[in-house]
Amino acid sequence: MLTVTLRFYEELNDFLPGPLRKRDIKREIQSGESLKHLIEALGVPHTEVEVVLVNGISVDLDQQLQGGERISVYPMFESLDVTPLLRLREQPLRTPKFVTDAHLGKLARYLRLLGFDTLFFNDIGDQRLVETSVSERRILLTRDRALLMRRTITHGCYVHAIEPWLQLTEVVARLDLVDQVRPFSRCMVCNGAIVAAQKDLIEQQLPGQVIRQHDQFWRCQDCQKIYWQGSHYSKLLKTIAGLVVGNRQAGDV
Ligand SMILES: [Zn+2]
Repeated sequence: MLTVTLRFYEELNDFLPGPLRKRDIKREIQSGESLKHLIEALGVPHTEVEVVLVNGISVDLDQQLQGGERISVYPMFESLDVTPLLRLREQPLRTPKFVTDAHLGKLARYLRLLGFDTLFFNDIGDQRLVETSVSERRILLTRDRALLMRRTITHGCYVHAIEPWLQLTEVVARLDLVDQVRPFSRCMVCNGAIVAAQKDLIEQQLPGQVIRQHDQFWRCQDCQKIYWQGSHYSKLLKTIAGLVVGNRQAGDV
């Protein structure tokens, strides 16, 4: 009988059944079984894994097991210092773009609010969601771990939080996005780019009160929605500032 010993670190334990968390796990394996298969059979999607050490050496997930190995599995986590180790992915995506599954519509709108290119479809099937992620090199955001276990997915991120604003905070922290936040550069409704709009060209489309109180306007180049710095604006700006400062402080510790 062939066995290996595994240990999962940090939040990867959230995917495991209670009795297997934060301890050595002994598993029986088939000769030649891949690491990816073994790890996902325990419930951990491969997209969540950044580094795997087998007997102290960094390997990729296609590694075949022979029995007797000791395996350490680490999460995709920016604050973990893995620079001396070989990472599973060649490069992080430089300018992160996202696609969310149908359950994360609010998160998609919040990401757009911070200026991140984020697609969201109400009625797209899992297969097309995966294809969009792969072909457009978009990070797939989901709470469906089976979706992240698909082999073709290279950049995915399991979202742990339930509440949309906390989901946003989680994604910004985990993917280290603070420096790339560009509030109000992207349309929350359709993901189009927002550009400055001349007041005299749009004033007929807005209530008189809005026109009297504001001089600066922006328009989505795609859906033509008009934006101005209304009462929501300062509240949103404060919340975003809090998010950015909170992340910086967390990073400084
Ligand atoms: Zn738009």
